[in-house]
Amino acid sequence: MKTLYVENVIKKIGQDVELYGWVDSKRIHKKVVFIDLRDRTGLVQVVGDEKMKTVNSEDVLYVRGVVIKRPENLVNPKLKTGAVEVEVKEFKVLNATKPLPLPVGDDGYKIDEEVRLRYRYLDLRRPRLYKNLALRSKFIDLIRQYLFRQGFLEIETPILSETTPEGARDFIVPSRLQPGNFYALPQSPQQYKQLLMVAGVEKYFQIARCFRDEDPRADRAYGEFTQLDVEMSFVNREDVMALIETMIIEVYEKLGIPIKQTPFPVITYQEAIKKYGADKFDMRTPEEKKKNVQAFAWVVDFPFFEKTEEGGWTFTHNPFSAPKPEHMENLLGKKNIPDILTTQYDLVCNGYEVGGGSIRNHRPEGLQAVFEIMGLSKEEINLKFGHMVEALGFGAPPHGGIAPGIDRLLTCITGEPSLREVIAYPITSGGRTAVMKAPSTVKEDKLKELGISVGGQSEDKKTTFDKLKELLDKKAVDYELSKHPPVFTSVDAAKIRGVELKTGAKAIIMYSDDKPVMIVVAGDKKIDTKKFKEIYGVRDLRMATKEEVKKVTGVEVGAVPPFGNILGISLYMDMSLKENQEINFNAGSHTHSISMKYEDYEKVAKPIIGNFSL
Ligand code: ASP
Repeated sequence: MKTLYVENVIKKIGQDVELYGWVDSKRIHKKVVFIDLRDRTGLVQVVGDEKMKTVNSEDVLYVRGVVIKRPENLVNPKLKTGAVEVEVKEFKVLNATKPLPLPVGDDGYKIDEEVRLRYRYLDLRRPRLYKNLALRSKFIDLIRQYLFRQGFLEIETPILSETTPEGARDFIVPSRLQPGNFYALPQSPQQYKQLLMVAGVEKYFQIARCFRDEDPRADRAYGEFTQLDVEMSFVNREDVMALIETMIIEVYEKLGIPIKQTPFPVITYQEAIKKYGADKFDMRTPEEKKKNVQAFAWVVDFPFFEKTEEGGWTFTHNPFSAPKPEHMENLLGKKNIPDILTTQYDLVCNGYEVGGGSIRNHRPEGLQAVFEIMGLSKEEINLKFGHMVEALGFGAPPHGGIAPGIDRLLTCITGEPSLREVIAYPITSGGRTAVMKAPSTVKEDKLKELGISVGGQSEDKKTTFDKLKELLDKKAVDYELSKHPPVFTSVDAAKIRGVELKTGAKAIIMYSDDKPVMIVVAGDKKIDTKKFKEIYGVRDLRMATKEEVKKVTGVEVGAVPPFGNILGISLYMDMSLKENQEINFNAGSHTHSISMKYEDYEKVAKPIIGNFSL
C-alpha cells in the first residue's frame, strides 16, 4: 500500500522514500530529466537520468529515491514541496497512458463541456476539481457532526417512490411486476420525513438525493441534486431558522469562509420585492464579491397561493406548509385566499435561493383545505394524498423542516460558475449522464416485459426532414432551404449549391463499439479513424452499411443531415468546420440542401468537437 503522500515528502529530508502518482510534466536538461510527480496532495519534483526520458505526461509512475534539500536559489516557492526534490534511484512505469483527449493541467473552463463530462474521470484530475470534491466531503462531514451533536438521526428514505408535488416534473420508472404502472423518483423526501415525525422520530436529517425533470436552466440542476433534508417536531419557524443558521455559522467558521452578516437579516417577501425587485438578492459590495464573502438572508411571509393560468389557485412553495397561525382561519374557511401567508422561510445567499422550508399543516383539515383551494376533488385528494391526510389524523405532532441545497451552497462558497463544478458526475446541460451514455435505448424484449412500446405513432410518421425543420424552427434560427437536381457526392453538392467544398458537412454514420454514431467532417476532408479511436477511446469503429444508415437515420446514404440529436445518436464534428462562417448540408434528401450560419449550427446540433480529419 502507498504510505507516503507527496505533500509529506518535505518531512523526509535525507531519507529514502517510495512515491506513487502521475507524471504531471517532464523537462529534459541535457542528460537530466525533471519530472513533476502528482498525487492528490500536490506535486513534487523528481530528478532522474536519461532512462527517464521515455516517461510521458500522465503515465502512472513508481519512484524510489532520496529526498534532498534544494539549494536556496533553486527553491520553488509555488510548490508546497518546493524546498526539496527526490533523486531517483529506481523507477517503474506502472501504466503508460494513451494521449489524453483533453488537457488536465489547466483550469479546464474553456474546454467543451460535453468532452469534459465524457471524460470526467480525467477532468477530475484537475487540482481545482479535486479541491472541490475534498471541500464537499469536509462540508458534509461538518454538517453531520453538528446535527449529530444536536441529537438528530440520519435516516434514508426511498428512491423508488410515488409522485409528490414539489413544483417540477417527475422522473418515472416503469414497474415490471405491475406492467403499466410506474414509480416516481422523489422530488424531495417531503412526505416521508413528515411521516417520520408522525412516527415520533422528532429530529431527522438526510443528505438526500432529489430528482426533478426541470427544463435545464443555469441556476437549477436538471436531473438530480443533493439537499440537506431536515425535519423536527415541536418547533416554530424561528426554531428551524435558528438551528440552520447556527449550523451554517459553525461550519463556515471551521472552513474559514467569511459570512457578511450574523445574525442573518430577516426580510419579508413584500420588502424584498420592494427593495430588490426579487425574492433572491445579492447584498455584497463589489469588494465583498472579490473576497467571496457569503451574504445570507432569510425571506419570510410569502403568499401561500398564486393564481394559475387557468384562473384557479396553486401553492407558491410547498403544499404541505401551514399558513401563519393568524391565517389558519382563512385557510380552513377558504376565504381571502390571496391574503393567506405561509410559514415558508427561504434562505438566500449571494443572489441565489439556497434552501427553503416551513412549518407544516399537522392537522388533517389544514392539509385538506390546501388541496381543496387548489381545486382537487375529495376523491383526488384521497387518491393522491390520502395516506398523508390519514397519517396526520393519528396524532401527528406539530412539526417543520427545511432543505438547504448542498450543490448550490458549495457553488457559492467556491465561486464556481456552475453547479456542475462541485458535483463529481453531473448531468450535462443537454440531460446526458457523465461518462456513461444515459439516457439510452432499451432492447425490445425488455420493453415488452414492462408492457411499454416506444415512439408514439405521430413521432414515427415524422420524416427526418420534418424533425429537422421542427428543431430549427423551435430554436428560431435562420436557414435557407434550396431544391436542386439530385447530388450524391460532396463535390457535386458544392458545385450545385455554388459554395466552397469545405463548407459542406458530410454526415457519416459509423458504429463505434457497436453503437451508431454520427461523425461529421468538411466536404474536403476524410475521417482519420485512427485518431478518432484514440481520442475517444474507441476500440472498434466501422462504417454503417447502406441498410443500417437507412435504419438509423430514416434517409439514404449521402442525404443525412448533420444532426445526431434528431436521431438520438451522438454527434462528433471535426474542428475544421468551425473555421467557416456558414455550413451546408443535405436536408434529408438528395434534392434538398440547407445553408445556415455555422454559429447557429453549433448551438442547435451541439456536436462534440474534436480534431480527427485527414
Ligand atoms: N421539500 C422542500 C424542498 O425540497 C423543503 C422543505 O420544505 O423541507 O424544497
